[in-house]
Amino acid sequence: MFFSVKDLEVRKAHFEVTFQPGEIDFLDSGLRQISPLAAGGAVELLGDTLGEIRVQGKLQVTMEADCDRCLETALHPVESTFDLFYRPAPPAHAHHAAEEVELDEGEVELSFYEGGGLELKEVLREHILLSMPMQRVCNEACKGICPICGQNRNSSGCDCHAKSADDRWEALRSLTLN
Ligand SMILES: [Zn+2]
Ligand SMILES: [Zn+2]
Repeated sequence: MFFSVKDLEVRKAHFEVTFQPGEIDFLDSGLRQISPLAAGGAVELLGDTLGEIRVQGKLQVTMEADCDRCLETALHPVESTFDLFYRPAPPAHAHHAAEEVELDEGEVELSFYEGGGLELKEVLREHILLSMPMQRVCNEACKGICPICGQNRNSSGCDCHAKSADDRWEALRSLTLN
């Protein structure tokens, strides 16, 4: 669903959409969409700006990713509202000025658009990526994988740590004996 500046100049647009898994490309993100993505909201061109577009709405979807610690599947339900601002992408040589603008505005989530408008799928994709936790874990208490034997320490305890500590004492003991 594409919102062109031309159409937005005439009127504010509303959307109420559902994207099935596969319709939005999450390939490079390590995330997989495992439920339909439902989103609703409005897109408007802000007056008295140089083509700034505001996208407000809410979305709901369940994503999954490999747990950062144990590599098992970790579910990430997302249910959030958003209020995003997009500006026309500045010409390449003006990048420095654009960075300064971003710094000045601090808290506001500001992005850029190219090609005369906004693709809704891109907006939703970006918002979902930003709403993921820094650490994608299956559970805050996930114990991860044993670096020595490779076992998932959540499902079966291994005694590698104890053993390697014992080995160290063993080495020390044989040293002092010699
Ligand atoms: Zn885990
Ligand atoms: Zn182990």
